[in-house]
Amino acid sequence: MSNFEYAPAPESAALVNIKNQYGLFINGKFVAPKAGKTFTTINPATEEVLAKIGYAELADVNLAVAAARNAFEKTWAKMPAVERGKYLYRIARILQERSREFAVLETLDNGKPIRETRDTDIPLAAAHFFYHAGWADKLSYAGVGSNPKPYGVAAQIIPWNFPMLMLAWKIAPALATGNTVVLKPAETTPLTALLFAEVCQQAGLPAGVVNIITGDGVTGSHLVNHPGVDKVAFTGSTGVGKAIAKAIAGTKKSATLELGGKGANIVFDDAPIDETVEGIVNGIFFNQGHVCCAGSRLLLQENIQDEVLEKLKNRMNLIRVGNPMDKNTDLGAINSAAQLARIKEIADSGDIEGSQRWSASCSIPTSGFWYPPTIFTGVSQSHRIAREEIFGPVLSVLTFRTPQEAIEKANNTPFGLSAGIWSDKGSRILWAAKQLRAGVIWSNTFNKFDPASPFGGYKESGWGREGGRHGLAGYLKGEK
Ligand code: NAD
Repeated sequence: MSNFEYAPAPESAALVNIKNQYGLFINGKFVAPKAGKTFTTINPATEEVLAKIGYAELADVNLAVAAARNAFEKTWAKMPAVERGKYLYRIARILQERSREFAVLETLDNGKPIRETRDTDIPLAAAHFFYHAGWADKLSYAGVGSNPKPYGVAAQIIPWNFPMLMLAWKIAPALATGNTVVLKPAETTPLTALLFAEVCQQAGLPAGVVNIITGDGVTGSHLVNHPGVDKVAFTGSTGVGKAIAKAIAGTKKSATLELGGKGANIVFDDAPIDETVEGIVNGIFFNQGHVCCAGSRLLLQENIQDEVLEKLKNRMNLIRVGNPMDKNTDLGAINSAAQLARIKEIADSGDIEGSQRWSASCSIPTSGFWYPPTIFTGVSQSHRIAREEIFGPVLSVLTFRTPQEAIEKANNTPFGLSAGIWSDKGSRILWAAKQLRAGVIWSNTFNKFDPASPFGGYKESGWGREGGRHGLAGYLKGEK
């Protein structure tokens, strides 16, 4: 037998019941948007329309903020902390019980492989609720004073790359600390947030504690600029993060901003090469490279570059690209036509500026949005593909000769979200980690997440941390 092929192993789309149309979730109920406007969300792997979604305008934002304010003052902030914690536990357990449904819905709406939604996104989202449930009655130990207080109404805006996980990163700490929420998911991936609204109903969460409004950047900016909002928590692009920082400057609003990145994955010549190749692949091709902390700049020590690149290309040829609902798929669809166009435009600049492109030999479906796993070699620091976030399955490879040169190149970026270090020597790892200007640094692994571990950036990658004890500080007023 010379040609070994996987048999298809599709997950069933019948596990979810997608409605034709969704309203906004305000004050514990689904309501139609005041002006009756809607938009559609599609499956990026097939371009089929999944559902019509309500479009929230200013009048709807006003209602959602008023509901959150009312719930904050009358119910949530007054409730004994231990009772608040019970609601978070209940939500976490429901997410576990309904995890298969959430995983399928996320894959259909986002295009990411079912293997990732099933094994990463949804279990981690539930873990965030469990973790924060435990904090609810222990906030005086969070390091923000003996009697910390919630801000009030939190406006939370999230991107499309990890819709349910980003929702959990936002809502779990906000509720644990006694804040109420108006959350806006990204316009291309609203469905799991709307299913989460049903979970809030199922958990008996008091009306108005969580409100979910759908729409685009205009809806988001109405929410950020609303005078009834006390705290803004945003995850998304650095450009929009800067616009939000300007919009709230001079107001009483507090903000956490989780923005873009251009993570350096540094491989020293004493690294275990086979494990490192797995780490490089996970660092850039996980979630189609739609990962803010992706290891999108590979820094290879020059004397091992040929060996690593040969093994990397062999490994990339084994990446299975295609139907995200197939349990064997490694790389799914690009989330939208707009994102595919952005990836193509920046990657093409790599050809124009003189780097060498190599793509894995994979077949790509004829409908939907796809991009093959790609690397560029011969990249220099001045190339756009070394400086700008591509947010797709495209790796820029640079080289270095000395450890000091590796650090200088790694830090030569306006971002500072993540970095990876591959080496056999603990002393070298600690030496490098101390000098890297990045919020999260992995050694001999990449893209590992845990609710107890704070996540966030330096420089243009953002302000504040999410997760862990440090993440709670963003939702509490106290003696800091
Ligand atoms: P985006 O900034 O275009 O959109 C993010 C969200 O902001 C969406 O919900 C959008 O509707 C909303 N929005 C757009 N304009 C707005 C405005 N003027 N005011 C308020 N809200 C507005 O980003 P994206 O393309 O959806 O996501 C990709 C970006 O997110 C990447 O740059 C990525 O690095 C970043 N990201 C960062 C983290 C992190 O933790 N640091 C995590 C995930 C993604």
